[in-house]
Order: sequence, then C-alpha cells, then structure tokens
Amino acid sequence: MTESLGGWRRSHTCGELRPQHVGQTVTLMGWAFRRRDHGGLIFVDLRDRNGLTQCVFNPATAPVAHARAQEVRSEFVLAVVGAVQHRPPGTENPKLPTGEVEVQVSEVKILSESKPLPFPLEEEVEVDEAVRLKYRYLDLRRPAVYRNFVIRDQVCRAVRDYLHAHGFLEVETPFLTRSTPEGARDFLVPSRLTRGSFYALPQSPQLFKQLLMVAGVERYFQIVRCFRDEDLRRDRQPEFTQIDIETSFLDRDEFLPIIEGMLAEVFKRVRGIEIPTPFPRLTYEEAIARFGSDKPDLRVGLELADCSDVFRAAEFQAFAQVVTAGGVVKGLRSPGGGGMSRKELDELVEMAKSFGAKGLVWAKVTPDGVQSPAARFLEPLRPALLSRLGAGPGDLLLLVADQMPLAATVLGRLRQELAQRLSLIPPDQFRMVWVIDFPLVEWSEEERRWNAVHHPFTAPRDEDLSLLDTDPGRARAKAYDLVINGQEAAGGSLRIHQLSVQEKLFKLLGIAPQEARARFGFLLEALEFGAPPMGGIAVGLDRLVALLAGEESIREVIAFPKTQKGTCPLTEAPAPVDPGQLKDLGIRLAEEP
Ligand code: ASP
Repeated sequence: MTESLGGWRRSHTCGELRPQHVGQTVTLMGWAFRRRDHGGLIFVDLRDRNGLTQCVFNPATAPVAHARAQEVRSEFVLAVVGAVQHRPPGTENPKLPTGEVEVQVSEVKILSESKPLPFPLEEEVEVDEAVRLKYRYLDLRRPAVYRNFVIRDQVCRAVRDYLHAHGFLEVETPFLTRSTPEGARDFLVPSRLTRGSFYALPQSPQLFKQLLMVAGVERYFQIVRCFRDEDLRRDRQPEFTQIDIETSFLDRDEFLPIIEGMLAEVFKRVRGIEIPTPFPRLTYEEAIARFGSDKPDLRVGLELADCSDVFRAAEFQAFAQVVTAGGVVKGLRSPGGGGMSRKELDELVEMAKSFGAKGLVWAKVTPDGVQSPAARFLEPLRPALLSRLGAGPGDLLLLVADQMPLAATVLGRLRQELAQRLSLIPPDQFRMVWVIDFPLVEWSEEERRWNAVHHPFTAPRDEDLSLLDTDPGRARAKAYDLVINGQEAAGGSLRIHQLSVQEKLFKLLGIAPQEARARFGFLLEALEFGAPPMGGIAVGLDRLVALLAGEESIREVIAFPKTQKGTCPLTEAPAPVDPGQLKDLGIRLAEEP
C-alpha cells in the first residue's frame, strides 16, 4: 500500500545533514538505495540527487515505522520523519559527506513501490548500453550519470552568461525549414497541408543566422539542436546540439578572442581550470605538415619532420624515386619506442598500409647503429637522419615516402597510435588550437566536381579570390576550426556577404544559377538588401561537455541518446505509423517493411 504526501514537506535533501544538525527533527524524501535488516534494527540508505543519508528504523522506539520498513525494497520512494543523531562511534562512514550522522526514523510513508530493477544502480557494476538506454530513467539515477547533466547545465549557463555579457541576443530559428547544405543528408518531414512537399530539419541554423545579420541583430547565439541523417560511424548522433553564434562587422582576429574568452570562462566555472589565451593557431598546411592531421592533439609532444632532402640523392631507390617524382619522405621519432617487439612493429606496418601508405620503414636507434629491415640503406644516412629527427639511442624512427598529404596523414595517425601505446598523453590536460586557412574547396574524384570544404557560404581569403578562376584547389578560406585534445570542438568562418562572390562560388561548385535561386534564393535576395560583413562559429556542445566530464562518448552527456543504428531503445523510435496518418500526408509506402 502506498500513500500520498498528505501535507509532508521535505526539510532537507539527502546530501545535506551534518553533525551540526544533530538533535533536529527532519523530513527527507527519496529512493531506498539499500536496505539492511539486522534482525532488530533496519537500515535504509535514502538517496536523492544530492546524496545518501542513512535512516535507522528501531522496533523498540518506532514499531509502526519499523514494520513498514520491512516492506521496503530497492528503489521504493519514501518520506521519513526523524531525529538527526551521531552515528555510534566506529560506524561513521568517512567516504560519505553525511557519513557522521543518521536519522532515527519516527514515521515513514511509502510513496511509491518499485519492481525489481533490470540492473543494479551501484556505480561499479558495468551494464550493457542497450539496457541502460532502454531504462535511461533508471540509469540517470546513478550519481555518475546524473553528474554529467549537472556539468551540461553549468556549461550552458556559463555560455549564456558570457554571451549576454558580450552583447549577444539569443534568438530561435525554425526546425521546420528547407535544406541547409552542411554536407549531410536531410531528415525530411512531409507536409500535410501542402501535399507532396517536405520540410527539412535544419542541419544547422546557418542560413537563418546569416539572415539575422542582414536583419541587423549584430550578435546572435542559440543553443540549438541540429539534425543530420548520417551513418552513425564513430561517435555521432542524428540530433546533436551546437552553441551557434554569428556576428557582424568583426574580422577574424576580433572574433576568435570572443570565443576563446567564452571557453576560458566555461573551463574556469565548470572545472576550475585556467585555460591560457590566446589559443595557439596553426594554418591547415602547417597542421598537416607538422602533425599529419587537421585535428592535431597537442597533448602529444611528437612532431613530424620532412626528410625528403636526406633521401633525394640516396641509394635507397624506393625513397629517392618518390622524392624526385615530387613526393616527400616524412619521419617521426618515437622516444623510447626502440623497445617495441618485432610483432608490434609489424602491426604498425600493417596499420600504415591500411591507412593508404605503400609501406612504412622503421628503424631502431641503438648506440652502435640502426636496426631496421632497411639498415643497409639507412646506416650511411644515420647522422643526417638523427639530427633531422632529433633522435638518439632508444628511439624508434618511422618513415613514410609518398605524395603529400598522404605521407603526413599516415604518420599523423601512427603518431596518435604511438601516443596511446606508449602512454604519451598526460591525463586531465586540455590543449586547444585553432586551425585556420583551410582550403576553400576540394576536388571529388567520384563526383568529378569541386565541393566546399566548410560550406558554400564561407568566404575565400581576399588575396585568393582570383584563384577561383585559375586554381581553385589552392584558394584558402576564411575558415577556422577549434581543436581540443585532437577533437574538433568548433568550426566556423567569415561569410560571403557580396552577392557577386556568392554567385561565383556557386558556379564553381557546379550549382547552376537557376538551382541556386531555387535552393537559396531567399539568401541571395537578402544579400541584395544591405548585408553586413559577418562571421560566426558553431561549438559542439555535446563534445565540449564530454571533454569536461571526462567521457569518451557524447552519448554519456545526452539525456536520451540514440544507438549507433539511430534508434531509441526507450521509445523504440523510429516506428511504423498508422495507415491513416500516411493517408493524410498523401503517402503510400513503396515497400512494406
Ligand atoms: N554552420 C556551421 C556548422 O554547423 C558552423 C558555422 O559555420 O558557423 O558546422
């Protein structure tokens, strides 16, 4: 039998009581986390989101409450009234903030009962993710899971406070809209009132935030859901949240410090960590050349070196030929990697091949020379190689000869692999870096056309504008990505605000004028009504919170995430719909599911 509150009011939370409360009569409400029946006394650890308090039921002093407590099972919802007392000496629990006291219960109400749980809520117990997501509301009762949402809330609050203090206006933009070209597939929503037509859920508010700049909003932000119908490889979600920002009249070097300030504020308020500003910057070209990645993890102190000149005239034909054919030899020194076994090295070679390299040459540096399958060729080059790579005895050298950027990106991935294997990543460190000057467009062999690297509204650098006619692949964009610990945390750009440039870019991307008018006519027209110079960014909120919470997966910081297959185990979405609903929409399924 369960009861209602009947006028009882909670006086304290389950995380609040301390020795200073001893003697007070309190009312607590929460879930029975654990119950221990010692024959005489019954102990219940009562839990709410703030903590745990030990409640004692004594048959001698409170027989009715004690009898009720015998019915209590895990996760029953209780209200208790009782006196706070010191725990008997020797039974205090120093691991619990409330561990010095307990509540001697005089009255109890069972507010709700619970079936036996599908999994225990103890933190230590590993539970299959599908089960956790099916019962996410139980999973969220676990303090470590709940904590991530406290962090998420703190991040959003810090962001809002900071942006408001800097003159930003929070504006909402529509979810039922037209396609925004962020490079993914759209989620479509059929229209009932205009049969045969569809809304697209926004891949981002990109076009609307630009329109808000034309509208004179000057500084806009929104913490907003974005929808992309992608294959959920790696750690993606079909709907995710961005801190979306746009400004007018600022050039890049005025704008980026605003974002640095925002992130510094977030790290300080949420984790008490001082992040030095300004953040370092790397051009895209430098990032590839030095780290083999446009998302370099600067926690790892290893850098690639160009060894092409060392091999150009060398006897080592395999490498020399690559260099004379316009390729490069890239090298990476792995400090202390000289201890790797033959098997581990073979694995690295296989990995390099799977990343697209024709091969990988490794060499161990010993006091008497190099040990390597190519030792015969490398030995004469040893002094030059060691000085180029800053290497010495005990180190492992890795060399890849190929065209750029392949040679660099293969080594870049091995750099990350070595960092893991050799534990070169310091814990709890946050290293931010801007990667700037991305290429504007990239050639797609498959589609035989140019694609925008960022999105088609990104401005080319002024000095590269003429390259759009002559050598588009070399044109750089006014685009920037923020990378934290090797993960893309934000991306943005200054936009095209001149119609003629926008039209030129559409043409280069193979979007015919009629098509451009049909898809983005509203934006193009807005550019004819006094569009200010503008630029912005989108920060991935889920990723940022995951970094701050020390979680690998963004699913841990999304209250109700989808699985890798895009399904929701809790609601079982997506689900078939009623034939009547389809009929209203004028839709007939071509295939029965
Ligand atoms: N709309 C872009 C994105 O979602 C961000 C931006 O350019 O501001 O990646």
